[in-house]
Amino acid sequence: MSVSSRASLALAVVLTAAISSGAGAKTHKPAPPAPPPADPAAVATALRDKALTDPTAYAVVESLTTEVGPRLEGTPAAARARDWALAKLTALGFSNVHAEPFTIPSWIRGAEAAEVTAPFPQPLMILGLGRSVPTPPGGIEAEIALFHSYADLLDAPPGSLAGKIAVVTQPMTRAQDGAGYGALGRARFRGPSEAAKRGAIAYLLRSLSTSDSRSPHTGRLEYAADAPRIPAAALGVADAELLDRMAARGGPVRVRLVLNSTSSEGATAWNVAGEIPGSETPGQAIVIGGHLDSWDPGQGALDDGAGVAITTAAAKLIGDLPRRPRRTIRVVLFGAEEMNYSGKAYADAHMTEAASLVALSESDTGSGPLWTLQLPKGAAAAPSLKPLASLMAPLKVVVSDQPALFAGDDFGLLQIGSAIPVFSFRPDATRYFDIHHSADDTLDKVDRADLNQSVAAWAALVYLLADSDIDLRVLAAANSAGGQP
Ligand SMILES: [Zn+2]
Repeated sequence: MSVSSRASLALAVVLTAAISSGAGAKTHKPAPPAPPPADPAAVATALRDKALTDPTAYAVVESLTTEVGPRLEGTPAAARARDWALAKLTALGFSNVHAEPFTIPSWIRGAEAAEVTAPFPQPLMILGLGRSVPTPPGGIEAEIALFHSYADLLDAPPGSLAGKIAVVTQPMTRAQDGAGYGALGRARFRGPSEAAKRGAIAYLLRSLSTSDSRSPHTGRLEYAADAPRIPAAALGVADAELLDRMAARGGPVRVRLVLNSTSSEGATAWNVAGEIPGSETPGQAIVIGGHLDSWDPGQGALDDGAGVAITTAAAKLIGDLPRRPRRTIRVVLFGAEEMNYSGKAYADAHMTEAASLVALSESDTGSGPLWTLQLPKGAAAAPSLKPLASLMAPLKVVVSDQPALFAGDDFGLLQIGSAIPVFSFRPDATRYFDIHHSADDTLDKVDRADLNQSVAAWAALVYLLADSDIDLRVLAAANSAGGQP
């Protein structure tokens, strides 16, 4: 039987079952017999094709961005996001919908401003970095020490930046795999403390952005224990280039910076979860998800409303099947990814059930399109996953010969602590960092066709994993010496 005729048969089974169950309920006829077990590949094909025009994912991200909006952990909006998630998963038919609370430090942005005071006074567009300490009331005014690369800052000797505002203006590389962000991340995470160790009193970083928009891009910093905590902010790309030009004229450049924020230790955040229970082995679960929290300037549409929408819609489509797959599918919407707390909370709460978790994967790089799929080591050749190459081909998703290494930030600690197998869909990130963590992360950036291509790929793979009895740990162990992906 051809793939397309198997798909037609599966779709016919789906539709017949849906119609007959509706008729049976109204006329009190005996319950119809359960539909015969379908060919998993045919069901996955029908799921894939249905997902390409299904409205669920876009409706989810539209609802989240419109009815909640920005939702940084520790803010009142995060509690509204929790309530939204509980209601949405319930309305979409998930079981065991619940919120898992955990305690975090909060950080809430206040008024912020910056300007050049000399030699050519003019305003600068900035956005404080997450966790930055505030400036003193009235701000800081000082001469800048400008570095064209983060490596140049690290080369500066101790004490050389005393009393100055350190500025790093290294541009970010645009890349399909997002490698430019990976290369520059340290300039944001660790740059403030490295500048402080050299005497700086504040830190400004050219936004980690591939856009020419003037909107600055925020993100968290990580203060080192052995350095003074100095205020830190991201500059708009155009503003970083302005400082480059002023510095090139040779004389001192002075900047005034005002950053206000409030923080407290005892805030609450929540990971929200729901399940599509398995029909035969519900104690085994494939765990997928995205993160519910988002940075405060935008709407959290691509980061990570899209990941919430893709994984929720994929699981919902599988849950709508007349015959659910053998294993449970769990969707977790993480509540504190941006400040890096929800992964630890999830690992702490779920490490004891690690043996019953089949595979993990988080969607957290926008709305697609996906371009490659990495499977757990040894899985690509398993009979139950062999249809994947054909299933992914029309979606233009390549099944990589490299095994997946990382399930995503919120699964990282659980994965590392328990060796649970992981898979990874990689979206095309060429334009993702134009808007990531900025005020431009809004619903209009979500492309419906790309979003649904992602849902189609996730639904097909997750269904195959859930309806099989494949043991990915055994496959990985069997292939660990052979070099097979
Ligand atoms: Zn994210």
